[in-house]
Amino acid sequence: MILKENIDSIRKNLPPGVKLVAVSKFKPIEEILEVSKYGVKDFGENRPQELNKKISELPEEINWHFIGHLQTNKIKMIIDKVYLIHSVDSLKLLTEINKEAVKRDITVNCLLQIYIASEETKQGLSEAELNEILDIKNLFTNINFKGLMGMASFTDNKDKVRGEFKYLRDLFNSVKQTYFSEDSQFSEISMGMSGDYKIAIEEGSTIVRIGSLIFGERQATIQ
Ligand SMILES: *Cc1c(COP(=O)(O)O)cnc(C)c1O
Repeated sequence: MILKENIDSIRKNLPPGVKLVAVSKFKPIEEILEVSKYGVKDFGENRPQELNKKISELPEEINWHFIGHLQTNKIKMIIDKVYLIHSVDSLKLLTEINKEAVKRDITVNCLLQIYIASEETKQGLSEAELNEILDIKNLFTNINFKGLMGMASFTDNKDKVRGEFKYLRDLFNSVKQTYFSEDSQFSEISMGMSGDYKIAIEEGSTIVRIGSLIFGERQATIQ
């Protein structure tokens, strides 16, 4: 029942239009199944192998979100199984995803991950790299650009975190206006985790990715 209580208390804080992705990395099948029974339809994983295993063992109705750094040699493992890739963090990766999607005659929903934190360890595109992609976005015939994703700094400084989320929202708005004003698909800002999702929502998040607040702390803390 603890899982249900955790979900209920998060749901109280989610305005309509903000989607909850339950981040289930390192968590067992039984717990994911239980959470899905409480009406959560979206789950996030960050390792292709683990994702594949879970997909094969869990109900088909689940929407799987890939939220981790994706190596190009792992694209094939997940490309036709995921609902949304949050973590497109290079032109090279995007090019390879598109290439594979063309081969299979599918379209792939993607978010462009932006570097918004001030930590060396966080992945993401710089603004220059983002613009480089957007300038040639029509070449990516089999990509559905759904929006942007970002991870704030891991810090207790709430003003800093808020500033990083604001930056992502402002960037989203300007990208939307310049490149996607006619495209209603480009509509998502994936930001906010267990420690900062309330701030993220205040700053315009449309998708929050929450792990430990639902499932409890993870044994391994690899991102
Ligand atoms: C692990 C992870 C999360 C969830 O983190 P919690 O702090 O446990 O909520 C969200 N987003 C990404 C990209 C992650 O890797």
